[in-house]
Amino acid sequence: MESSSKLAIKRGTRILTEKPFAYVLKSKYRLERCDNCLEATKVLKCSNCRYVSYCNRSCQQQAWSIHKHECLFLKRALPRIVPDAARMLCRLILRLEHGGDLERGYYTEHGSRKFRDLMSHYAEIKNDPKRIEHLESLHAVLTDMMAESGKGSLTGSLVPNMNELMSIYGRLITNGFNILDAEMNSIATGIYLGVSITDHSCQPNAVATFEGNELHVHAIEDLPCLDWSKIYISYIDLLNTPEQRRADLKEHYYFLCVCSKCIDPQEMHEMTAAVCPNGSCDASVNIQLDKCESCGTPVSEQLRTDYSEVMALTQSSLDSMKEVAYLDVCKVCLAKHRGILHPLNVWHVKTLDAAFEASIQVGKWTEALDYGRQLLPGFAKYHGEWNPLLGLLQLKLGKIELYERNYKQALQHLQEAQRILNVTHGRDHRLLLEQLRPLMLQAKHEMR
Ligand SMILES: [Zn+2]
Ligand SMILES: [Zn+2]
Ligand SMILES: [Zn+2]
Ligand SMILES: [Zn+2]
Repeated sequence: MESSSKLAIKRGTRILTEKPFAYVLKSKYRLERCDNCLEATKVLKCSNCRYVSYCNRSCQQQAWSIHKHECLFLKRALPRIVPDAARMLCRLILRLEHGGDLERGYYTEHGSRKFRDLMSHYAEIKNDPKRIEHLESLHAVLTDMMAESGKGSLTGSLVPNMNELMSIYGRLITNGFNILDAEMNSIATGIYLGVSITDHSCQPNAVATFEGNELHVHAIEDLPCLDWSKIYISYIDLLNTPEQRRADLKEHYYFLCVCSKCIDPQEMHEMTAAVCPNGSCDASVNIQLDKCESCGTPVSEQLRTDYSEVMALTQSSLDSMKEVAYLDVCKVCLAKHRGILHPLNVWHVKTLDAAFEASIQVGKWTEALDYGRQLLPGFAKYHGEWNPLLGLLQLKLGKIELYERNYKQALQHLQEAQRILNVTHGRDHRLLLEQLRPLMLQAKHEMR
């Protein structure tokens, strides 16, 4: 009989489901989400440490096999909040201490990985002063937190020596996943053993999504067979120039990306393109050239100067709005882009994205719709046609159109969202069942 891994894989097939080897809820959600299932709901604190909270008794019981080892440490830490990376390291140390080193995460029936199989990038980290500084501060927190007290001969620390800690830390920072909620907010950090087999590409053929703390990988292309050496997911934000993406990957994952998109000079030009001075030509213009390669209209010195100013202004404005985007700042930038930056210039797309989110924040629905619609081509081009962020953008647009009583447009966006999210999340994902379906029913109902 042919093994299942030799069968062709259709786009949208879930090729991996995995529970985390270790994970921690981000501390900012400590009092509003369950430390076990990560659900945002009314939660009750662990009566002993009063540090972590659970949504119900069954979650507390499920979590206890792990939490019992850290409960005292967290109790001792309060009122201080333990940095997320320290809490994660603490969990990894405890997990490895209690048999976790033998645990395997399977990516096929027979293919599996243990924690020690994950890349540690030991040498790179040892030579990276920023990482060493971070690790030393975490080491101090852990030593403080995990000191054993009053256990006679056992008195000492569970914290491993610096070399061992560095190898755990290295595996954490280069293999850790941000666990995302349905709106793609990062709510927790997790290590998944099986999926760590997957390499990065800026043009991935698979995508990782989450349901609670469970990781799902879906194929976003048809594949001839399930060969994990040819499955790629993206580790980074794809709405960035090849230069930025490569810097990101080098800094966080210690490798140079040589994917087809990173080595294509056209990609860099398109992402930083100016508009053609000839109003009836929609080509992307490389500002360094003398003329538009498509229609031959010359690039003036004035356009080059304006371009540099607008790019600098946009980059610094977006930099200053990393936490919160301000609609008026976005508007100033967008107005200046007109006649200078090409609509698919990545800095223009990023500004539209910020403007879209900012208008939603302040409830300016008409403006949100305007920015969101303009955002669609850029998102599709750079994030890719089968990307959760594009699906989510369509979902948000559908929701706003529905609110604005534009039922036909609402349904169109929701159907697009469904087409994409079916592939990236799967038909039975809560995002589809609990958010998308009710909106679609409502839109259909209103249209009658
Ligand atoms: Zn729970
Ligand atoms: Zn506790
Ligand atoms: Zn790349
Ligand atoms: Zn032109």
